[in-house]
Amino acid sequence: MLYSKLAELYENLGNTTKRLEKIEILSKFLEYLSEKDKDILYLLNGEIYPTYDERKIGISNQLVIKAISKASGNSPDKVVQEWKKIGDLGKVAEKLINTKKQSTLFLKSHLTTDKVIENLRKLPELEGEGTIEKKLILITELLISASPIEALYIVRTLLGDLRIGIQESTIRESLAKAFFNSDKESSKIIQEAIDHSNDLAKVFLISKKGKISEFDKIGLEVGKPIKAMLAQKVKNIEEGFKAVGKPCAIEYKYDGFRLIIHKKDSKIKLFTRKLENVTKQFPEAVEYIQKYVRGESFILDSEAIGYNKKTKEYTPFQAISQRIRRKYNIEKIREELPIEINVFDILYYNGKSLIKEPFEKRTQLIRKIIKETPYKIVSSKQIITDDLNKAEEFYKKALKDNQEGIMMKNLSTAYQPGNRVGHMLKVKPSEKDLDLVITGAEYGTGKRSGWLSSFILSCMGKEEQEFLEIGRVGTGIKEKDEQEGVSFNELNDLLKPLIIKEQGKDVKIKPKIIVAVTYQEIQESPNYSSGWALRFPRITSLRPDKHLSEIASLQEIEKEVKGQKSN
Ligand code: ATP
Repeated sequence: MLYSKLAELYENLGNTTKRLEKIEILSKFLEYLSEKDKDILYLLNGEIYPTYDERKIGISNQLVIKAISKASGNSPDKVVQEWKKIGDLGKVAEKLINTKKQSTLFLKSHLTTDKVIENLRKLPELEGEGTIEKKLILITELLISASPIEALYIVRTLLGDLRIGIQESTIRESLAKAFFNSDKESSKIIQEAIDHSNDLAKVFLISKKGKISEFDKIGLEVGKPIKAMLAQKVKNIEEGFKAVGKPCAIEYKYDGFRLIIHKKDSKIKLFTRKLENVTKQFPEAVEYIQKYVRGESFILDSEAIGYNKKTKEYTPFQAISQRIRRKYNIEKIREELPIEINVFDILYYNGKSLIKEPFEKRTQLIRKIIKETPYKIVSSKQIITDDLNKAEEFYKKALKDNQEGIMMKNLSTAYQPGNRVGHMLKVKPSEKDLDLVITGAEYGTGKRSGWLSSFILSCMGKEEQEFLEIGRVGTGIKEKDEQEGVSFNELNDLLKPLIIKEQGKDVKIKPKIIVAVTYQEIQESPNYSSGWALRFPRITSLRPDKHLSEIASLQEIEKEVKGQKSN
């Protein structure tokens, strides 16, 4: 397909903020998309491979600036100057390439989506000497053959920021509309297929057949990450019993991070809930699984928690969150911040999917195949009870053991990847904290000059990919890297490459870095676009394991405010 057709689609989608209109436009496009163009589904989601694939585009602003400069015949300084004015490198490419094309009387682009995908896919493959130069050639080649509007979307794709307001759910609804007339059941089945496969092109091909029964072919595949099942929250144990029924399983709610473990052909892979492969970061986990879990092939769901190697006391999540991202000096950090794996679910065992099996059966199997080895790998602490007193006692014990609370689980339900289900509930002491994304910052003065020192926090708006500001935070961040939690250094390193626009001391930042924030209260405020402001916010940790779509939404904030009033 000509890339201009896709660029036109992007334009049309970007021109409306209405979800239903987006679905209408996208479903028409999908209806006529041929099978051989299936990889366009990845591009629509801002990717070049299925979501589970580790090969991401990963291009910096600086490289894009160089490529625009080369392709348009302008100096890099001129590109930067325009960038500061316009605040969107895509628009800069559109403008500068436009001037060039007019002067060379270039009429029409013949760039195809295949060529764009081909060049983009070469980018993550490059390694070693001359990588930057080679990447520059690949990008410049695309920009030279692009029309201005194509250049806009090539640049936005490179930077992972299409700005067309499309999420996976919009693609799901559009597939349902294009091939199943928006039948409610089809939308659910398509979502299930996405959650199992994390491969939109594959789901498109099956949807195109127009037969629901075709979806049976999508099953779990060991080695490919699946979305984790998520929990809903209840206020207390009584409410929990009402929702999940009696008796139920009650487990420790560990204060760590989710690790989904796959074993196939003697190889272990570890994934986060964001589907990131973190096997290299946790060599000890691989050893423990090889040694203490029996089975040829399996998928386990677990929480990894940290502990103090001297006192053997369990530590909070923020103490070990840096292990998820750390890719160097692994041996040293593994010594300093050891982890224990607590397995709480099993989805697949020796060639058989277990997700439709009742939880009770799954949890029994875990206990059969793990050789309990404290401070290495264990099955999660669990009781099965219908007794409120016993449950309360267990809850207290979990808190005393430095864990966050308890999980209450219905005994007979299936595992539903990617769903926030009402049969797995979390009970924890009410504490005010939210996961929010940083969308702006301010440079400090004095000893902090040149440093970003206060940060704008945003929640998710009502429209998809709309971020609304809800406060500014400068506390909770540590001065020194060695201290527990997130440091100024770390935040600056993460945020500076994401700066989209600078104006005096203020900068706009591409929404990517998620932080957990505690606060005292939420107040009405005309100063922030959400209409609300956090009082005394404090950053407690980075959430590298969370996906952007999982940050707090405006709806949740408004619910919190209602809760505040009724307390
Ligand atoms: P959420 O996962 O619900 O989006 P979150 O990451 O802020 O939110 P919590 O709300 O604190 O986490 O609780 C859910 C998380 O608790 C799960 O995603 C999982 O990582 C963790 N967890 C700890 N212990 C268990 C357990 N026994 N069973 C299931 N999940 C557990």
